[in-house]
Amino acid sequence: APAVVPAPAVAPSALLFDVEAVRRDFPQLHREVNGHPLAWLDNGATTLKPRQVAEAVARYCTAGASNVHRGAHTLAREATEAYEDGRAEAARLLGAPDPAQVVFVRGTTEAVNLVAQSWGRANLGTGDEILVTAAEHHSNLVPWQLIAAERRARVRPVPLLPDGRIDQDAYRDLLGPRTRLVALTHASNVLGTVPPVAEMTALAHRHGAVVLVDGAQAVSHFPVDVTESDVDFYAFSGHKVFAPTGIGVLYGKRPLLEAMPPWQGGGNMIESVGFDRTTYAPLPHRLEAGTGHISGAAGLAAALRYLRGLDRAAATAHEERLTAHAATALAAVPGLRLVGGPPGRIGVLTFVLDGTDPLDVAHALDRLGIAVRAGHHCAQPALAAYGLTAAVRASPALYNNHQEVDRLAAALHRIAAGEE
Ligand code: PLP
Repeated sequence: APAVVPAPAVAPSALLFDVEAVRRDFPQLHREVNGHPLAWLDNGATTLKPRQVAEAVARYCTAGASNVHRGAHTLAREATEAYEDGRAEAARLLGAPDPAQVVFVRGTTEAVNLVAQSWGRANLGTGDEILVTAAEHHSNLVPWQLIAAERRARVRPVPLLPDGRIDQDAYRDLLGPRTRLVALTHASNVLGTVPPVAEMTALAHRHGAVVLVDGAQAVSHFPVDVTESDVDFYAFSGHKVFAPTGIGVLYGKRPLLEAMPPWQGGGNMIESVGFDRTTYAPLPHRLEAGTGHISGAAGLAAALRYLRGLDRAAATAHEERLTAHAATALAAVPGLRLVGGPPGRIGVLTFVLDGTDPLDVAHALDRLGIAVRAGHHCAQPALAAYGLTAAVRASPALYNNHQEVDRLAAALHRIAAGEE
């Protein structure tokens, strides 16, 4: 049976987190689904957007539509400001020293592909090794497989311990003179595991390897500081941190980004173009070919400003209490097994229920207005480590409340009893 998670130590400021006030900012929380109030517990897939984000996107679409950088008019200036505001907010969120080290991409997937295709093609050779933890989302694995095949390099997995943590002894053994890069999640979307990123980065650096951290699941749950952790690359998706889809961020250390060849060519990324010679724009534009997602960047700025306006310590403490409560409530459901042991630091509760198909469980919950995800969660190796090919995942965010978790638990009791 899964261990019952003790209640986390609650910071005094946690008492001040007014989840009901936050909920009022998220209109989608107040809609009905299948005749029930929506309980959105699929935040691992995407987060809902506060009205401030919708307003920022609408402002661009209804009054401020323009391209950026090139224009010599007022609206081009406004659009440029909105776009660069998104970059500045992302740099601030990550603790990056300079917004020029923040490259806009479509999301985490594109950020990893950018590094694999640009840094990887320039730096990987025959017999070089890329270490990838067994907890990675496919987006921090398949791009490495693609470039490794091209460069005759090897992708080597770092195994998991039964409780979902990354096996640090195995990691130390796998690091070696051929290790060029370590691809590491900052929070697993299946296990909730939060690895010791700074420690693992320091070890990688001792072997001359660079570290790319996938922050897709981390940024909405706890503060991040790339300067403190000293990681080389950090990626996240706007849509998993209350911003629109289609906008994300790659942070990189300046010397690494400056040495990376452009991976896509086109407008915006050049300084001068001639048939004899083309030169490229300075960072970050040389890695951003074509017109960017301007309304998305405006939405990202609004989302990150919204997050900055919250008491993060209080929000994190609220999420930890909610997750601990959910783990206890779910563990009491007959036949329910949490995958990877007790949940880690972020709110991810992945489980299987004896005698039921995960997809059927998700459909039964949907009929009761409760949204969860079922399937392989784009992390087949992580599930395979527990002998599974599919599972159900409930993933709360800071705006979820105890009633929603109680509804989930009550519904699962009924499903386990064959009543739904
Ligand atoms: N990494 C993790 C841990 C994720 O959970 C996800 C999305 O589910 C991704 C990467 C990919 O993000 P995106 O699809 O926004 O590129």
